[in-house]
Amino acid sequence: MAEAGANLTYNFCSGPAMLPEPVLVRAQSELLSFQGLGISEMEMSHRSPQFLSILDQAENNLRKLMDIPPQYSVLFMQGGASLQFSAVPLNLANKHGRVGFINTGYWSQKAMAETARFADVVEIASSVDSEFKQAVYPERLNGEGFDYIHFTPNETIGGVEFFDLPDCGNTPLVADMSSCILSRPIDVKRFGLIYAGAQKNIGPAGLAVVVVRNDLIGRASDATPRLLNYQTVISEHSMANTPPTFAIYLANLVFEWLIVRGGVKEMERKNQEKATLLYSCIDGSQMIFNDVEPSSRSRMNVPFQFYDETLLPLFLASANEHGLLNLQGHRSSGGCRASIYNAMPIEGVVSLIEFIKEFEKSHVK
Ligand SMILES: *Cc1c(COP(=O)(O)O)cnc(C)c1O
Repeated sequence: MAEAGANLTYNFCSGPAMLPEPVLVRAQSELLSFQGLGISEMEMSHRSPQFLSILDQAENNLRKLMDIPPQYSVLFMQGGASLQFSAVPLNLANKHGRVGFINTGYWSQKAMAETARFADVVEIASSVDSEFKQAVYPERLNGEGFDYIHFTPNETIGGVEFFDLPDCGNTPLVADMSSCILSRPIDVKRFGLIYAGAQKNIGPAGLAVVVVRNDLIGRASDATPRLLNYQTVISEHSMANTPPTFAIYLANLVFEWLIVRGGVKEMERKNQEKATLLYSCIDGSQMIFNDVEPSSRSRMNVPFQFYDETLLPLFLASANEHGLLNLQGHRSSGGCRASIYNAMPIEGVVSLIEFIKEFEKSHVK
């Protein structure tokens, strides 16, 4: 939220997304000399006591924020969320070689396609009938022989979010939480594994966070690349090779920022408030609409379309001039999308709403 020219800017990018300003200011203040060492955090050995302490703090702060029980491990890995599409089946799909998927759109399908290289993929529920405009829950499962059930609690592109968990009986539930992690409290005990790329709600792109129940690991085949083997990553304390030290440092600053701001409970309150304001503006508009089933509307990613699509280029250009950046929708869906993750202050959402109203007044009769 820096000043660009005369305007405050608000970055609505879906990812890499905006980071909290205090985090960037802190990183800037420590950039040239971390804790008075005369070198930056980026230049320190990953075996130095300073970095080991950052890594410990990052894990402990995440454990605190998500209330992660001791029987779960926390891993910091590389390759973003997409490499986890491969890592998860390599580590977890070794008993039945079968994985159940809930298909709610773009990212579910990306995960399914990658998983299919390593295991049989069975679609156990799909929202194709609603053109992926809602969350769907599978019939209750019992003993179908899946190694795990995978779902995407927040479909970042479609703007579709699950507010309940699928009931999978004893089958472990795996969630790609890239775009909703830390946005509200969740009960980690109900999951076998949670993973997230960092660039939406945690920190810089490239880093991935994995939270996994310990009894599920240790069965990866010898052909599994070392850096993708959760057992190896855990034994090496997320340092099976040189870890992305600066990304982990920034993630930890974000975790500290979240804790100071009241944790995920307070984030949920703020996120709910921001989303409610924006959806009611859209629903009251004669110019734009959101067609996601109302009970599945994402609090993180708010897509909207124009009744008259010819207005879109002017809207985007004009928004940009007002410091409202990166509102264009994903290339697969067009229209607009406002991503309003934890770091987006309510003032940014209010500015967007005022801009939408002004634009509508002058361009729609
Ligand atoms: C952004 C995103 C991804 C991809 O993340 P990468 O870090 O680019 O691999 C995967 N899943 C979801 C839900 C996402 O939002």
